Amino acid sequence: MKILKYPHPMLTTPADRIEAVDDDVRAAAEEMLIAMAEARGLGLAGPQVGYGKRLICINITPGSPDGERVYVNPEIVGREGEATAEEGCLSLPHVNGKITRAAKVTVHATDLKGEAVTLHADTLLARVLQHEIDHLDGVLITQRFSAIDKAANARSLRALEKAAKEAAGRR
Ligand SMILES: [Zn+2]
Repeated sequence: MKILKYPHPMLTTPADRIEAVDDDVRAAAEEMLIAMAEARGLGLAGPQVGYGKRLICINITPGSPDGERVYVNPEIVGREGEATAEEGCLSLPHVNGKITRAAKVTVHATDLKGEAVTLHADTLLARVLQHEIDHLDGVLITQRFSAIDKAANARSLRALEKAAKEAAGRR
């Protein structure tokens, strides 16, 4: 699986709910975990690899497979407080900015066995969950940047747009 880069249209298209956790979903999750580990990412969402379904992988301790988690149809059901921190994204190389998100979240999801799970997350895990769930809604970090951070990243975004155009021209 290849990680899609901005401005690929999959990245701004909301993903579909997964109706059943079957072998296809488990196979996609396995491939996503490999792609995430190779990129040393903290998280990866289905749309980032061209899989238009509500599936996310998370590992807030990259390099340690023990930290790998997969969630199907994750949904934020509770938010508490606010926290601001710098974020980047595997689909937006060389783009970084500060984002204010909920400090704590409660998330309902399904695991790969098809069982319901409830997560109470704070600090980095809360941030990564919100970032990945944004991807499922077709929302990228740039949409949450302040005007200053948007301006600061304009050159990097233009470079990514140009690279995509050139790649399309070669096909
Ligand atoms: Zn991302």
